[in-house]
Amino acid sequence: MSAGTTSASGPHTGAGRFAPSPSGDLHIGNIRSGLLAYVRARQTGRRFLWRIEDLDRVRPGSAESQLEVFSELGITPDEPPLVQSERLDVYTQALDRLQDRGLVYECYCSRKDIRQAPSAPHSPPGAYPGTCRNLTESHRERQRRRLTEQGRGPALRLRTDNTEITVEDRALGPITAPIDDLVLKRGDGVFAYNLTVVVDDAASGVDEVVRGDDLATSAPRQAHLANLLGLPPTTWMHVPLVVNTAGRRLAKRDGAVTYQQLRVLGWTRHDVYAWMQTSLGFADDPTAWSTIDDMVVGVDPARLPRQETVFVPPTNAAV
Ligand code: GLU
Ligand code: ZN
Repeated sequence: MSAGTTSASGPHTGAGRFAPSPSGDLHIGNIRSGLLAYVRARQTGRRFLWRIEDLDRVRPGSAESQLEVFSELGITPDEPPLVQSERLDVYTQALDRLQDRGLVYECYCSRKDIRQAPSAPHSPPGAYPGTCRNLTESHRERQRRRLTEQGRGPALRLRTDNTEITVEDRALGPITAPIDDLVLKRGDGVFAYNLTVVVDDAASGVDEVVRGDDLATSAPRQAHLANLLGLPPTTWMHVPLVVNTAGRRLAKRDGAVTYQQLRVLGWTRHDVYAWMQTSLGFADDPTAWSTIDDMVVGVDPARLPRQETVFVPPTNAAV
């Protein structure tokens, strides 16, 4: 495993982070990804940061409760969390920089328009077909008026060359994905996830992103965007998700899946770490994990599973 928190050249200056959306209580799979982000930061001597991605789908109190769960599990971020809703001017500046370089255009399409448009040759399914890429100014004027009448505004998209970009992932190896004209700001005025993530990671000095592998295909897009914005590149480690017994992404309806629900059924933080140890395949380690420090010592990044883990929620009877 990677040992020590300092290298010959001194302490690490970079950071890792956990950036959950405050849309509800974290389930055991989200928690596992966050713990792994912390573990990597501690193993490599990076700072561990927390970001509240509250531009969309916010449930009041949920950011606080997510931090509280981590605190109960023995983790406090090294700096006060960055709050996205307080950083709209920073995202505006980034968008302006892209705009100044002619890399931004207005898109008037609804989701349905995009679904129904014939896809561009060689583009992956679901990719933006480029409908609004090269419209004349008078055509744009008409489209703007049409949207205004519907009480909507245009989205802003990044002009790309639809090329494929490959990034190296510490767990998955190379990840290749085509870069389509991704949304930078939505029609409802909300800055898009890909833009805010890239801007915020760079602003906080995040140089290794550890997160669930459902976001792996976003990494090439984010690398491309960082490059266009002149921001330093980051590295990635995408970790496998926790799924339900049907093999689908874990969700509330699957039963007792959040820390709060598991506590009610009698789980302690000790049980959480024991489950982390088994689910990550380190149960042969003679130390039984019961704290975050055990996990920091016990996780060998080279031996992380490639497979999803099934979580079978306990029932009262089983505890
Ligand atoms: N807020 C995103 C989510 O909860 C994660 C963003 C990221 O880790 O890049 O899915
Ligand atoms: Zn469009």
